[in-house]
Amino acid sequence: MVVVATACRICAVGCGTLVELEGDTIVRVVGDPDDTTTNGYTCAKGRAGPEFHHAPYRLDAPLLRRNGELVAAGWDETLDDIAARTTALIAEHGPGVIANYVSTGGPIDPAGYAMAHGFFRASAPIGATAR
Ligand code: SF4
Repeated sequence: MVVVATACRICAVGCGTLVELEGDTIVRVVGDPDDTTTNGYTCAKGRAGPEFHHAPYRLDAPLLRRNGELVAAGWDETLDDIAARTTALIAEHGPGVIANYVSTGGPIDPAGYAMAHGFFRASAPIGATAR
């Protein structure tokens, strides 16, 4: 077994964790007592990391709806689809029609959280608040 010291990425707190691995399988996640900020604390979500990571329903690729069915798609196709839909919405209703909800820090996606904030900072209409 290998133990990797890292940080939980489920929410913005970023608790220090120790992840126990057997090969590519996450066996257990516990709080890192040597983390100087969280001192070994983790919540139930952080400790459920193995179940999240290995869940059979986990999405590893984008899905697009085609004829009422969700089908796997590539990132280029997905981003083109998002760009076309976003552009059409803004053209019809103005830039204030686009919003973003990130819950408690962009669950399980800190990179997406940062991207969303960057997107809104870059594209916010005059007078709008992008936080
Ligand atoms: S989800 Fe829980 S364990 Fe993970 S960073 Fe947030 S508070 Fe810490």
